[in-house]
Amino acid sequence: MASIAVCPGSFDPITIGHLNIISRAAKLFDKVIVVVMVNSRKNGMFTPEERMDFIRRSTKDIPNVEVDYYSGLLADYVNQKGAVAIVKGLRVLSDYEDEFKQALTNKKLAKNVETIFLVTDTEYMFLSSSIVKEVGSLGGEIKDFVPPEIKDDIIKRIRER
Ligand code: ADP
Repeated sequence: MASIAVCPGSFDPITIGHLNIISRAAKLFDKVIVVVMVNSRKNGMFTPEERMDFIRRSTKDIPNVEVDYYSGLLADYVNQKGAVAIVKGLRVLSDYEDEFKQALTNKKLAKNVETIFLVTDTEYMFLSSSIVKEVGSLGGEIKDFVPPEIKDDIIKRIRER
């Protein structure tokens, strides 16, 4: 049976740090579903459709990646998809506490699904969607932070807001 992994996140917008985790996950599993989730604690800048479009364009060269959106509980989503793993990226120590709580909760709700953490490559350690939004809004250069095919659209949409 094909192994399916889910990479959940806000992806508001996708960065090259996210892409690094997604492409590494795609080498470990037959199929990786990148799922855009709405985080009630974070105010989004981009709509779910825009985020999905950015992810699709950034992952077009990775054939076993699919993009989706889900507004419910992650545990329900992974159960529905028959996924064997949730793949998350770990940057700095401060990511750890929240990720640990989420992993334990998901284990309770989706018993057959393992959360797997991939440690970020060092060059992406301090990269986040918030940095992209902050730098972009203030007119800074974001080319080292986001995939090249979506850079201009991100800037355009940040300026329109
Ligand atoms: P953010 O924390 O930037 O808002 P998301 O909520 O979209 O990101 O995160 C989705 C997943 O991607 C999380 O597991 C997060 O730890 C991971 N991630 C985000 N940025 C990076 C990065 N630069 N390197 C590795 N993993 C990352």
